[in-house]
Amino acid sequence: MPRYGFAIDNRVCIGCHACTVACKSEHGVAIGVNRTWVKYIEKGEFPHARRSFSVQRCNHCDDAPCVEICPVTSLFRRPDGIVDFDSQRCIGCTACMQACPYDALYLDPDTLTAAKCNYCTHRVDNGYEPACVVVCPVEAIVSGDLDDPTSAISKLDREQRVQYPKPEKGTKPKLFYVGGETAALDPTQAAPSESYMWSGAKTPYSLPQLEAARDESESIARARRVYDVRSKPGTWGWMVSAYITTKAIATGMVMVPVALFALGLAPQALPTVAALLALLFLGVTGALLVGDLKQPQRFLYILLRPQWKSWLVRGAYLITAFSLMTVVCWVLSISGATWETQAAIGAITALLAAGVATYTAFLFAQAKGRDYWQNPLLVVSMLVDAIVAGLVGCKLAGLMNWSGGLIAVAPEGGGLVETMMLGTLSSTGDPSRICLGVAVVVLAIITLAEFLPKHPTANAALTAKLILRGPFARWFWGGVVFAGLFVPAALLLANVGIPLAAVLLIIGIACKNHVLVQAPQRIPLS
Ligand code: SF4
Repeated sequence: MPRYGFAIDNRVCIGCHACTVACKSEHGVAIGVNRTWVKYIEKGEFPHARRSFSVQRCNHCDDAPCVEICPVTSLFRRPDGIVDFDSQRCIGCTACMQACPYDALYLDPDTLTAAKCNYCTHRVDNGYEPACVVVCPVEAIVSGDLDDPTSAISKLDREQRVQYPKPEKGTKPKLFYVGGETAALDPTQAAPSESYMWSGAKTPYSLPQLEAARDESESIARARRVYDVRSKPGTWGWMVSAYITTKAIATGMVMVPVALFALGLAPQALPTVAALLALLFLGVTGALLVGDLKQPQRFLYILLRPQWKSWLVRGAYLITAFSLMTVVCWVLSISGATWETQAAIGAITALLAAGVATYTAFLFAQAKGRDYWQNPLLVVSMLVDAIVAGLVGCKLAGLMNWSGGLIAVAPEGGGLVETMMLGTLSSTGDPSRICLGVAVVVLAIITLAEFLPKHPTANAALTAKLILRGPFARWFWGGVVFAGLFVPAALLLANVGIPLAAVLLIIGIACKNHVLVQAPQRIPLS
């Protein structure tokens, strides 16, 4: 079985765009999107300026992150190494566009499904080379079997100095460049322009801010991107950040009451109001998840045609199981089940809640295109957010009042833990105040650890600058730090406006999720 790949020979490419046009024609690609395209990079000043061309497309990775993240096997790797797609299965979640480090996928404006170069499988299967290879007037695009030592492509790979794009991503791309320009392969070295010669297309990025966020020292060479296709906008919008917040509330509304019950501080594992709030926010979470799909009528494919490696699938099953167990836990609570039964079912439900609260961190980690999402702290951060949201929910729902609420019904003559907790909490006069105070401190520590340290890659560091000093600074400093941490801390210290402090904590978490989802999508991947 062959293992097909592409070589792009930059020594001979003349940047004529014949490959772009042939591909458009072969596949009927809609206006405004491309399966392959040519980027021009210039370096130096006249009379020593130099221009190089870079043909961009799917790299048909051996370890393709788009295939791994696709929840419905719409993207798949054929036995001959070609990464192909089936638009009939695609649900339009655009996770593949977040996962591909090379920006190779686009959303087809006609079908609202993901598409990309598929190596012209209809031609290859009939013994022809891809259209771009045939049309290139200088044979700058070479296709063939990388495992065949006699093929032209494997000779190039063996005999020339070649560059594979972003090898650090571990995707094992099967496309390499001969005589490639580094600044063309690393998109952060030459940022997109607002428009290009022969092209009036506007980029969706706020480029002056993107440029301003870069340190001069990071600009290895003064490379300029003088021609390119339109940069793709981020495909995950407000619904994605909102669903992370609503599921934090839903899961927290189960985890916190169950924990209090286990500590002997509540008579029921899941009081009715907590169960109803959890189910309400789960419903909103589901609506946001489905609403964000470009093919919402196909959302059941996630459950019915699952690709189990995708955290979208695992998350969907976790949410389903968590919803069912929440109902069971609530029914047991109100039906007078024994402490042991409630504790056992409550523990299972709380574990599922923790899974639902944190699975998005693993989904983000599968989105290999976004360096900023590769932070292992995201799991901890999402779990903490959910617990804080649960504390806030319990406070606002009246489940943490000193009298008549959770704490007041602790059993008389309880164990050491209950006695110590009651002693500590009673000295404050308001248990919710000390709980929320601890929440502010923990949130502040996690936020500092998540956003302020040095970031390991140029892409992640640039994202951090967009957050701390760029277009997201208002969201971060105003929403996350001032409204979400500083004001609640002040209110709790002054012991005034505790409910307001609670609401502000949730607003801070929502702002953090907005920044977390949006900022990394501003960094161009090609
Ligand atoms: Fe192609 Fe990108 Fe998928 Fe790699 S990750 S196979 S470059 S679409």
